[in-house]
Amino acid sequence: MLASWWGWLMLGVSDLAVSILNHLRFSTTMPKKRPPREVWIEIRRVVWERDGRQCVRCKTSLTLKECHIDHKISGKFGTNKLSNLRTLCRRCHVLRMDMRHRGMIAKALEDGIIPANWRDLVWED
Ligand SMILES: [Zn+2]
Repeated sequence: MLASWWGWLMLGVSDLAVSILNHLRFSTTMPKKRPPREVWIEIRRVVWERDGRQCVRCKTSLTLKECHIDHKISGKFGTNKLSNLRTLCRRCHVLRMDMRHRGMIAKALEDGIIPANWRDLVWED
């Protein structure tokens, strides 16, 4: 009885320690506006559920692990408000007209996610 009580207490303490450590780690290595990792995981899930667990653009069904959460307005004026977030598949995310996404092109080509004529498929809205 005592052992299990102690176990629960330790578990609670270590969870807290982990989330504080995560918060410190992410707040120094990521942009200021990025929420703590555990908060972002929850936001992802909420957005994905709201969007019907599919890409809002091409309607492909996605698992929570596969989905990409896109900021409609990114950069300086973007927020992490739910109204600014939407679920995309990797392909639509990569092909979105946004220079911030250009870094994903080479890898997506390599993985066969997008074709060589990907420039014709770029979209914006
Ligand atoms: Zn899509």
